[in-house]
Amino acid sequence: GAGGGAVTAVVAIDGPSGAGKGTVARAVAESLHWRYIDTGAMYRAVAWKAQREGRSLDDEEAVVTVADSAVLDLDAGRVAIDGHDVTDAIRTPAIDAAAAQVARMRRVRDLLVARQRDYALDGPIVMEGRDIGTVVFPHATAKIYLDASPEERASRRARDPAHHPSRAAEIGAVAHALEQRDRLDSTRRVSPLKQAADAAVIDTTGVPIETVVSRVLAIVRERLRSA
Ligand code: C5P
Repeated sequence: GAGGGAVTAVVAIDGPSGAGKGTVARAVAESLHWRYIDTGAMYRAVAWKAQREGRSLDDEEAVVTVADSAVLDLDAGRVAIDGHDVTDAIRTPAIDAAAAQVARMRRVRDLLVARQRDYALDGPIVMEGRDIGTVVFPHATAKIYLDASPEERASRRARDPAHHPSRAAEIGAVAHALEQRDRLDSTRRVSPLKQAADAAVIDTTGVPIETVVSRVLAIVRERLRSA
């Protein structure tokens, strides 16, 4: 890889699940006319393929092989792996857990991080994940860390129909699963979720999405001016 030295402009958006990263990153990319890359979808797609091929998620060697041979296509708002459109299939509680498990494997991360850096060779990008500002692009043009209260993150996730079709009452279970996954992501040895020292932290609790997007765009424009 390029060692994180971005060739082009990169907006790194990190934070825990349910902080609003996806919605915000997509809107920021659209507004700037930059490419949007959801790195969580890459870990999810690899987990999906490993399960489809009957690999044990405890078998690191097998998951590395799955990741290494995977042809990922993240364009046009869809996610495909080896030609299978998995856009909807990877948004389930089972894949939430499986993705967090494969994301703990250093060699899987090394493979996917190299691909993430390659995306920046083609033009400016907005990239969303857990370690974009800390590991993937330590020299990103702008780093944003989005956060929200645990209650708000759980209720956003519970409203997502892929997770709990028409069962708003399941919020307790959603909150529990989310908390467990965030603990896994924050305490793992390899590239844990954490704020970069130079990230702008935005708490999105109770803040309308347009306001968050405007704040991120203001930060990006300021960084581009002073670059
Ligand atoms: O963002 P999303 O919830 O889709 O990510 C799924 C999982 O992928 C996360 O729980 C995390 O374990 C992993 N991930 C990661 N590093 C990233 C993006 C996602 O470890 N940059």
